[in-house]
Amino acid sequence: SDILLDVKDLVIHYETDDGLVQALNGVSLQIHTGKTLGLVGETGAGKTTLAKGIMQLVPNPPGKIKGGEVFYDGEDLLKKSVQEMRKVRGKQISMIFQDPMTSLNPVMTVRDQIMEVILQHNKLSKEEAVKKADEMLELVGIPAARGREYPHQFSGGMKQRVIIAIALACQPKLLIADEPTTALDVTIQAQVLDLIQNLKKRDNTSMLLITHDLGVVAQTCDYVAIMYAGEIVEYGTLREVYKDIRHPYTKGLMASIPNLVEQVERLQAIDGLMPDPTNLAKGCKFADRCKYATAACMEKVPEMKSVGGEHMVRCILPEATEVKEH
Ligand code: SF4
Repeated sequence: SDILLDVKDLVIHYETDDGLVQALNGVSLQIHTGKTLGLVGETGAGKTTLAKGIMQLVPNPPGKIKGGEVFYDGEDLLKKSVQEMRKVRGKQISMIFQDPMTSLNPVMTVRDQIMEVILQHNKLSKEEAVKKADEMLELVGIPAARGREYPHQFSGGMKQRVIIAIALACQPKLLIADEPTTALDVTIQAQVLDLIQNLKKRDNTSMLLITHDLGVVAQTCDYVAIMYAGEIVEYGTLREVYKDIRHPYTKGLMASIPNLVEQVERLQAIDGLMPDPTNLAKGCKFADRCKYATAACMEKVPEMKSVGGEHMVRCILPEATEVKEH
């Protein structure tokens, strides 16, 4: 099948002193081989929890996976042991985080850090691993000679290149990139995104790209999922969603972009705040910010409905859910 990752009804909660945080409330999504899914939403929507859930990196306690399945290449990752997951991470699925400083080791040279992941997953001699690490450095645009240096000797953009080299050193099939360019300045952002795109194409890697930047999604993604208060509210191919936005929340996000696919704009603020995740309403979670909300919206969580093609939307408005041929 061409589906590499199939997340089904994933529920993750955190037990905190302030109460039960319902971070993910039944998230389902699929990532196709070689394709990029852009996961878009505001801070606190549950994007990072979803990424950590896939990687089995949700700290327990306070986090708890309450239900669901995460099929990777046909196997449920949630059923794997700690040791089995260690083999999956880095080799099959790699992750790039927002802040390069937190993922690099300050007291190890960058070459040693790349070699570490290579040797962890491959039976290679030290010389072969050095060679492979140098190749990775060159591939991300860093002269191999600089491999002897430490992270603090690199700029922010260069550090993120090192992270990419580490993440892709074992040619994972799936790359999860959580706001990979947010900490960088704008020109460097574009270069780093280009680099990720090129390497992804080279190895036919699938990618989950977490971002709040709709312009980045338009430029790099094949599919898009819009997340709100721990649920996916709209999903489809980039073309389906950007050409025919259905959910009122997605409409709010996109409102400031006149020509969606060409214009690059940041996510516009929508009046109001996301609901308190310790006290979620039983109906549509967007209701208190939605100008179309009626009493019917409060009764139960709207289901995801197909509106034609692969396009799905979670809203009860007839005009939002009318099926059209794409
Ligand atoms: Fe708005 Fe109701 Fe649709 Fe929710 S279900 S997005 S409240 S119209």
